[in-house]
Amino acid sequence: MSHSATTLLDLTPAAASLRLAEWATAEGLPKYRAAQLVRRLWVAPVASWQEATELPKALRERLDRDFPLPRLTLDTLQDSADGTRKYLWTLKDGEKVESVLIPSASRRTLCISSQAGCALGCVFCATGLMGFRRNLQPSEIACQARELVLRDPEDKPTNIVFMGMGEPLLNWPAVDTALTIFNSPAGLGVGARHITVSTVGILPGMKALAARPEQFRLAISLHSPLPAERLALMPIEKKYPLKDVIEAAKAFQQRITFEYVLIAGRNDRDKDALALASLARRLGAHVNLLPLHPGGSDELVPTAPARIREFRDFLTIRNIEAVVRRSRGLDIDAACGQLRVQMERKRRAQA
Ligand code: SF4
Repeated sequence: MSHSATTLLDLTPAAASLRLAEWATAEGLPKYRAAQLVRRLWVAPVASWQEATELPKALRERLDRDFPLPRLTLDTLQDSADGTRKYLWTLKDGEKVESVLIPSASRRTLCISSQAGCALGCVFCATGLMGFRRNLQPSEIACQARELVLRDPEDKPTNIVFMGMGEPLLNWPAVDTALTIFNSPAGLGVGARHITVSTVGILPGMKALAARPEQFRLAISLHSPLPAERLALMPIEKKYPLKDVIEAAKAFQQRITFEYVLIAGRNDRDKDALALASLARRLGAHVNLLPLHPGGSDELVPTAPARIREFRDFLTIRNIEAVVRRSRGLDIDAACGQLRVQMERKRRAQA
């Protein structure tokens, strides 16, 4: 096991399999055992080795001793009237992160967190207001899906989006491993085209993601096509200007998405739509228009629904594919970071 890995769930399935094979040999077990064991990590997961009743009891005990399987503890579960479900997890050191399961007719999309908190301070974002706590381990990222399967195999996600708390490309080594776990047939088996990494445009991370052979999808948190306004909304614009991000995005063969939260008077004017259309055209990107959720800076006002539709039409008539995303789970604070912020406020109020 590498130095930083503390559990088999921090390894890619191939690396875990190797580690188990070495262990099985050292323990004098037959070779087929390793393949049998690795299935229990992701394909048919168990909460602890004790549940793997196909194995002799003594072997299960040795496994629990040598390879304990870490869990995320469910702190809060909120069900929305529209079927969206939000999970607040407590990690071993007490940090809390969120995931949101969004079911639709044929999909179950799981929006996961890659960091506890976030250092980037986008002014419209609840997580940004919280500040950075720490990076998540690969297991802490991938177990957000594993815990769902343990609770109910029917909830296994068909799609994964890295759009929860944190900037995934600032935690690349862990996200790199988690992508393999999600995608591998010996992991959760989610197709690469059904896995989306959403970034504000961290250039080194974009390069690393583009270098992977799988066709993972890229979403760029754009939010303004105009540098001065983008800088006011997203301080990262200073370090990684959008024009460089757009250049770096050209390395991706697969279709790119722009994420665009509409804020009244800030990024919803005709001149914004025009500049956005021009960027989208350059990359062949399509645009997700998102209503502003409460939870970020109090000074920001959501764009009215009628103006959101106008803005979309402005793009559409210029041949840019633009979709207004329904604001799902608003009644449960489903935007990233909101549940954690809200629970902390509640706890402080009770203290
Ligand atoms: S929008 Fe994303 S990158 Fe920006 S502060 Fe929130 S979590 Fe961080």
